[in-house]
Amino acid sequence: MAKHVFVTGGVTSSLGKGIIASSLAKLLQARGLKVTIQKFDPYINIDPGTLNPYEHGECYVTDDGAETDLDLGHYERFLNISMSQANNVTTGRIYQSVINKERAGDYLGKTVQVIPHITDEIKSRMRKLEEQDDYDIIITEIGGTVGDIESLPYIEAIRQMINEFGKSRCLSIHLTLIPYLSAAKELKTKPTQHSVKELLQAGVQPDILVCRTEHKITKEIKRKLSLFCNVEQNSVIEALDASTIYDVPLLMLKEKLDRIVLKKLKLSMKIAPDLEAWKDFLGHLKNPTREVNIGLVGKYNELQDAYKSIYEAFVHAGAVNECKVNVKPIHSEALEVGDVEHQMKNLDGILVAPGFGERGIEGKLEAIKYVREEGVPFFGICLGMQCAVVEFARNVLGIKKAVSAEVSPRGKNQVIHLMNDQKNVKEKGGTMRLGAYDCKLSRSSKTAKAYGTTNISERHRHRFEFNNDYLDQYNGSDLVPVGINENTGLVEIVEHKSHPYFVGVQFHPELKSRVEAPHPLFSSFVKAAIEYRKNQS
Ligand code: GLN
Repeated sequence: MAKHVFVTGGVTSSLGKGIIASSLAKLLQARGLKVTIQKFDPYINIDPGTLNPYEHGECYVTDDGAETDLDLGHYERFLNISMSQANNVTTGRIYQSVINKERAGDYLGKTVQVIPHITDEIKSRMRKLEEQDDYDIIITEIGGTVGDIESLPYIEAIRQMINEFGKSRCLSIHLTLIPYLSAAKELKTKPTQHSVKELLQAGVQPDILVCRTEHKITKEIKRKLSLFCNVEQNSVIEALDASTIYDVPLLMLKEKLDRIVLKKLKLSMKIAPDLEAWKDFLGHLKNPTREVNIGLVGKYNELQDAYKSIYEAFVHAGAVNECKVNVKPIHSEALEVGDVEHQMKNLDGILVAPGFGERGIEGKLEAIKYVREEGVPFFGICLGMQCAVVEFARNVLGIKKAVSAEVSPRGKNQVIHLMNDQKNVKEKGGTMRLGAYDCKLSRSSKTAKAYGTTNISERHRHRFEFNNDYLDQYNGSDLVPVGINENTGLVEIVEHKSHPYFVGVQFHPELKSRVEAPHPLFSSFVKAAIEYRKNQS
């Protein structure tokens, strides 16, 4: 029987519930337990696929094609296991299924209400992963902050689960902020007291308090929190700001978070955590022997979360190469007003990011032209690959009016066009080409060398594709398709034959990079940047 750990947040959002949940899961996994994590988001969208990245950061895609919250990326990166649709549930999805059941007559004439129908649906989703595998522990992270009207049904569902299954099967962790008032030179516990009161009012007594703080928490503060929040003193855990999120599992180990959880859930502590691979990674990450600067050309640069997985993939790829990767955001619109050369100065590689719509496209094309001509390593992801195809058509193949149909739906030379099965799609939610697809690589390609195989599977999220009407022209040129989906003939990868490193991929490699399995394409791109820098000096 799986045990359940619930993680809620208090005082403010962005405290890093996902990182704490992932770190705890990592420690439990390192002790030989089978652990997974799921995220419940209290918003009414069915999934974050329709959300602007400025609203909620990157949309993370799983192998089974679910468009999910970016926290699932952390879960995968930390645990080195794959998530699925079942690991991310929203209020929209909960209501949708309750309403569908009501229409089907499943409630047998009853009045359908938040309690018990919505809460029953939440509870059944909370237990869904029990059917998927024989997990020892399922960690459930509740999005948002305790006290939000939207999260009330979730807190109520937690209360009911604890009531039904008891404390040795259900545990509640509350992550909170202990702010530091510099004028008073004091850490303040009051916001936490209030937040715990909110939880108590909803009938949930937190078993463990994890306290985010910029300064060390004294015994006295722990005692105070313990007293006012009715939590055992040794279950008040300090979560000091860390220089990298990947330090957090070790910080939590030091604070004995895993031991406290195991004790409360009455589970064995006999196996000590094996964190060798994790510590090796941290060793490499913190002791780089070299450095490169990578430009990240995108249009959502104001918000780092919009490119979360790309930033993290560079951390992993940097560590395997013992190289510090400085990622410099470059706004694609800024490149449209000229001086591309100046913006590209001192960069050892350029990644052109995924994206949607017309804004900033011309800037991306300018950046690609520059790096293609100058021999600077280039990596294009999804829209970035599509832009590379357009740029090459215009400036090398001589197709002056080459466009992507996304930008010019009526353009004559659509070297990137709408996928066939997208032509009749009207609805926006969940209708792109999503999830994992196989791809066959040309044996002689740089990409195949990087992967060490010619058969790969990668995750997708797009509507447009390389137009195979132009296949012959590209095949006879320097920019060649080297990765094909054999079932559909879709071009998934293009590579420049005579450039030191110029790779565009239609899929999202960043979604599969993990601490213990860095992505081969990020790793080879960083290698190319190291090489480029060496040759410059
Ligand atoms: N907008 C492009 C498409 O839909 C690229 C999508 C992406 O970069 N994820 O094909």
